Amino acid sequence: MEKLKRLLADAGRVLAHEGQGDYVGGHISLRLPDDPGLFLMKPAGIGLEEMTADNIITVNIVGDKVSGEAARHNEVFIHSEVMRARSDVQAVVHTHAVYAVVFSSLGKPLLPVSNDAAFFARVFVQNGVLAWPNGFDLDAIALHAEMKAAGLLRHATAGAK
Ligand SMILES: [Zn+2]
Repeated sequence: MEKLKRLLADAGRVLAHEGQGDYVGGHISLRLPDDPGLFLMKPAGIGLEEMTADNIITVNIVGDKVSGEAARHNEVFIHSEVMRARSDVQAVVHTHAVYAVVFSSLGKPLLPVSNDAAFFARVFVQNGVLAWPNGFDLDAIALHAEMKAAGLLRHATAGAK
């Protein structure tokens, strides 16, 4: 568990270094291999660059905190809904990179005109903008069983691995 928490904290610092942070917004979650109904996540109130093995919390698959000192962030459901819908997903990354936030506000499909955009192409090209204006829709996620990444309308981006 300690090794996974350190790995998650390292991932947070890498994302922050790459400009993916947004104060306390954006998260990385990692499913526990020995207990797939639980995952590790950054808590509320800190940025990606502030993650340490000591402040990471454990959350269950419906979004309830089960251990850790800090409070759970309200964005937990982006992660819990993806993990509930997709048992094959081991990690979810959701960030607020400034260009992604601006682009998501437009409600337009992302065309696969670059290597980076190709990651989103299957969802966007075949189905238009995958968006959940009232929060995550479990049925929508389940329908896109091959989804690797999605734009969150008027929010940010999320990717799953
Ligand atoms: Zn967010």
